[in-house]
Amino acid sequence: MRVCVIGAGLGGMLTAAKLCKTGYDVEVFEQLPFIGGRFTNIEYKGYQLTTGALHMIPHGENGPLSTLLSDVGANVDIIPSNPATTIRIPDGDSFEDVQFGEFVSRLSFWNRLMYRLLILEARLLGAGNNYSFKYWISRRLHDETALNFADAFCGWALSVTSEQITAKEGVAIIKNIYNRGGSGIPVGGCKAVINALSEVIKQSGGKIYTNHKVEKIISENDVIKSIRVKNKNLAYDVIISNLGHIETQKLIHTTGSGTYTVSQEYKNKLASIVPSAGIKINIASDTPLIDHTGVLLTPYAKRINGLNQVTNADPTLAPQGKHLIMAHIAVRSSDLEREARLGLEDLKTILHGVNYEVLMVQTYHSKWPVNRCISGRDIGNTTPYKHLYVVGDGAKGCGGIEVDGIALGVENTVKEIMQTTT
Ligand SMILES: Cc1cc2nc3c(=O)[nH]c(=O)nc-3n(C[C@H](O)[C@H](O)[C@H](O)COP(=O)(O)OP(=O)(O)OC[C@H]3O[C@@H](n4cnc5c(N)ncnc54)[C@H](O)[C@@H]3O)c2cc1C
Repeated sequence: MRVCVIGAGLGGMLTAAKLCKTGYDVEVFEQLPFIGGRFTNIEYKGYQLTTGALHMIPHGENGPLSTLLSDVGANVDIIPSNPATTIRIPDGDSFEDVQFGEFVSRLSFWNRLMYRLLILEARLLGAGNNYSFKYWISRRLHDETALNFADAFCGWALSVTSEQITAKEGVAIIKNIYNRGGSGIPVGGCKAVINALSEVIKQSGGKIYTNHKVEKIISENDVIKSIRVKNKNLAYDVIISNLGHIETQKLIHTTGSGTYTVSQEYKNKLASIVPSAGIKINIASDTPLIDHTGVLLTPYAKRINGLNQVTNADPTLAPQGKHLIMAHIAVRSSDLEREARLGLEDLKTILHGVNYEVLMVQTYHSKWPVNRCISGRDIGNTTPYKHLYVVGDGAKGCGGIEVDGIALGVENTVKEIMQTTT
């Protein structure tokens, strides 16, 4: 059974590795000269920056990505974040870092009670799709700092505000955090994950072609037949796109006797897809700015949602004796210059009194966003075309944060392919 994967991002590489290990004959086509998409390293002045991610795996060694990596035999060492989170609270010219439990204990008696009720509700009852996560929280918790915390968390973990995701998704995420635990950092950063998958694919007989842009996906009416790459039509039994539904649909070229048009239902689904944009500020320091391997959330900042110091988990991500810190902003307007300026102003307050150097500010939007589709609004892994599937952050599983959500979507896709091709 011949399978083609379009795009060597994490979604494409995971799917290719799993299908190779299951006995499929897999070829991966990547338009860029390198593999990994938004989940690989870029070396800059000896620091291991990235093409996208903050070098973090949301559920660390106990999440769906880690499970899938072990399943295919990709060896990646993931250092658990400990503690998962601290919160930086400004205090005049200084600040105080508290753990989440301490943050909760500072709420009023009534709000502490309401917080416990919310967690119970999340774990036992779930929530609906037709109202926001922010509304779901604010029904019970009347505390601005708690809502700011929710925004900082959603901004860091999903690059959205708590108003932009549905209560159903927010609650599924809380449940998953309780069941699977917090984040981790792969030794070697994002690239270590991609390299391990590349090894698995090659050792299992799969092929990866870089500098190969797929120009068309050719379907006869609603049945996928082949792709066009480097002026050649190549036929496959199954095609998997790592490009998200919208970019995948743009590549479709229909042939055949009928006049096939996509259903209005699918067109409406495509129109409902909203990507999330963001800004990452890469910071270098001679002295440690954060004293743990988790995330420092900053709910009191204007734009920055949080920071991590990845060299606490893996010192090789920076030159010897230096520290690499990454700050993330879920942008609140399309004026990215202003958003970045507000983020840089935030740093002066958050990192008051310490020496640091801004290495690089990276913006993520349009065809290179934080997520191709806001969490919870994914439209699934199948398409209206037989034998064409979509994987990656445009088609995650419910309640799956970032790359762990990608792994859930890949598992669903592989299951579906195995059912329909055996
Ligand atoms: C600032 C930022 C911080 C983030 N932090 C984290 C984090 O810490 N943890 C986390 O879990 N997630 C994080 N994410 C999200 C995570 O990086 C992405 O969700 C994930 O990398 C997306 O992988 P993907 O496989 O869906 O897509 P991509 O990585 O975009 O891969 C798609 C690939 O397809 C290729 N391609 C496109 N068109 C064609 C074509 N026509 N022919 C051939 N190839 C093509 C592209 O070049 C690309 O390589 C972050 C993202 C950003 C931007």
